[in-house]
Amino acid sequence: MELRRELLTAEIIEPSTGEPVRTTIEVRFDPLTGHSSRILPERGLMPPSDFDLEAFARESQPHCPFCPGRVDRLTPRLAARIHPDGRIARGEAVLFANLHAYSSHSSVSVYSPRLHYLPLGEITQRLLTDNLATQVAFAKAVMAADPQSRWASINANHMLPSGSSLFHPHLQGIVDSQPTTMQRMLADVPPQRFDAYLDAERRSGERYLGDTGRIQWIVSFAPIAPAELRAFIGGISSPAELDDDLIGELAHGLVLILGAYAEMGFQSFNCAIYGAPPATEGYPLNLRLACRSNLKPFYRSDSTFLERLHWEGAVDLAPESVARQIGERFRG
Ligand SMILES: [Zn+2]
Repeated sequence: MELRRELLTAEIIEPSTGEPVRTTIEVRFDPLTGHSSRILPERGLMPPSDFDLEAFARESQPHCPFCPGRVDRLTPRLAARIHPDGRIARGEAVLFANLHAYSSHSSVSVYSPRLHYLPLGEITQRLLTDNLATQVAFAKAVMAADPQSRWASINANHMLPSGSSLFHPHLQGIVDSQPTTMQRMLADVPPQRFDAYLDAERRSGERYLGDTGRIQWIVSFAPIAPAELRAFIGGISSPAELDDDLIGELAHGLVLILGAYAEMGFQSFNCAIYGAPPATEGYPLNLRLACRSNLKPFYRSDSTFLERLHWEGAVDLAPESVARQIGERFRG
């Protein structure tokens, strides 16, 4: 498989010198879905966090519905046919119904009611394993109760710039009869194209992070969002098929990446684990994870007319440099 890219050249007249200045922009094409993305010269579009997140956490904590003493009273329970307890708990993680539905079955799961403030560098494998496990149990329970809902995804809006309306860190689950656009596009990719993409990345080595056992991790060739990574889990196609070992392996890889994001100065991210219906032949369960702008007043959103309306990624963090910054954690 050829990882396709085109180079564009822009020319301007520099205002201070009157001299022409040329810039190169690289357009890359995603090997799976064909969407294109622009890699820009680094121009500081994603400044590191200098905002006092801890102080903001203290400010928002007194009214937070996910904190101890309120979470039981203020969050909706799951319907009895999904789960008789109305909630799913694993370790400190608690899953409940999303007050604002995005699908037939929408859930929210907190890492822990006590962790209102959870910077990326402090998310541990235990916390992430337990939280993912509540979402896997939710997907299984919904599919057993409502066999029409075969499309499951596990997602994260972490911190307000990523789309989260509540500060308290959490994951979100969707289980539905209708796939999202990206779930549909990925499920339509011929199985051999996933293999060819991973082979090409392994051979090139520039963006391949590693294989943690049953999961392969790479930095996206044509990212939709800054510092975007992907992971591929062969042999299963739905989050409902994740066993305890795979959940632990997934959490391990994600913790390595979130630690690297924290070191790179990022504190907000989105994640999506794109499920196809269980036992979809040849579809590897796969995920995307990317940074978002940092939280602070009057910040610049990383999502512009290009991403929102043209469906075209535009990032100034070269995937190869992201891979160099994160790769060591996978090899170490
Ligand atoms: Zn809270």
